[in-house]
Amino acid sequence: MVIGRHRNTRAIISLEAIKHNVATQISKLKDGQSLFAVVKANAYGHGMIPVAKAAKEAGANGFCVAIIDEGIALRESGIKDPILILGVNPASEAVCMAKHDLSVAVGTLEFLTEAQKLLQEEKQSLKIHLALDTGMGRIGFRNTEDLKEAVDFIEKHSDQLKCEGVFTHFSTADSKDPAYFEKQSQKFDELVGVLKKKPKYIHQANSATALWHPNFEGNLVRMGISMYGLNPSGDVIDETWNLEPALSLESELVAVKEVEAGSSIGYGATYTSSQSEWIGTVPIGYADGWLRRMQGFKVLIDGQYCEIVGRVCMDQFMVRLPKKYDLGTKVTLIGENNGKVITAQDVANYADTIHYEIMCNITERVPRIYK
Ligand SMILES: *Cc1c(COP(=O)(O)O)cnc(C)c1O
Repeated sequence: MVIGRHRNTRAIISLEAIKHNVATQISKLKDGQSLFAVVKANAYGHGMIPVAKAAKEAGANGFCVAIIDEGIALRESGIKDPILILGVNPASEAVCMAKHDLSVAVGTLEFLTEAQKLLQEEKQSLKIHLALDTGMGRIGFRNTEDLKEAVDFIEKHSDQLKCEGVFTHFSTADSKDPAYFEKQSQKFDELVGVLKKKPKYIHQANSATALWHPNFEGNLVRMGISMYGLNPSGDVIDETWNLEPALSLESELVAVKEVEAGSSIGYGATYTSSQSEWIGTVPIGYADGWLRRMQGFKVLIDGQYCEIVGRVCMDQFMVRLPKKYDLGTKVTLIGENNGKVITAQDVANYADTIHYEIMCNITERVPRIYK
């Protein structure tokens, strides 16, 4: 996608905030625990390479991605630290992963058998993290028999397959009720008990686990959303250390006009002014990830909340202004403006989703500016 470098819309990313969040999480770890920065999905919209470099400067020991290509992009940027691919990937790509020194989550014997053959032909070896499905129901071994078979297979083919880790993922670490978390934790112990030799990394902590279950097992945190300064639970649990949100989303007024009473605004003429009103146009729309359903929400201009009127278009939307403002006046969609704030959580609440999705939806067209 073309990046809108010449447009008046930008996402401003504070790498200082990323570093603060990573360093704070590291300061809470116990001896022998490491932290991998989760930079999948373009670092949750923040830009993968700059975020990865900032996280590394702040002490991250490695990285997690979701897909092979993200891992390759990190390698091509010069990163030499461990990179773990968390998602399920085609076994036919085993040699590709091995050549880029990417570790991969594996949850089936089928993957191992197919990969082993290909690796043997190419004289390569692949680092494996055994995924254990302890209750998330997404990927991984679900019982001791299947896991045992996989472990035996890896041992038998230790020239091609190196067991570097074993891990699970919690589905309710951000919930106030610990019951299901504990159930998953017990299942993890039962499954890990199968492994006679313990791999280098044993891990189960995402951001929420690290925040609210600090006695988690293992020696590695996979830090995602909290690195970006957002509370994993949204607004369910409000006790956190001081997370600093890293991203603000800004634009500018590019058209300002006074319309008479009875003027309609936007596609479908869904908004009609009840009196003479000042209307501004903001150059960001749903093609940038500012969802169409944000109609009726607010943005910040000159420290005041201004309503989005009419439907959000693909590339622009309109706001009702309290008075005439100059062209070029800053419009804050996410972040701080003259002492007032709109958070990613505010946006998510209005859009009836989670801030993770709001962040990932900011498309490549919006330039990321780092400070
Ligand atoms: C995405 C992901 C994470 C990071 O989760 P956060 O809630 O953003 O911390 C950790 N582990 C796995 C397996 C993931 O898929």
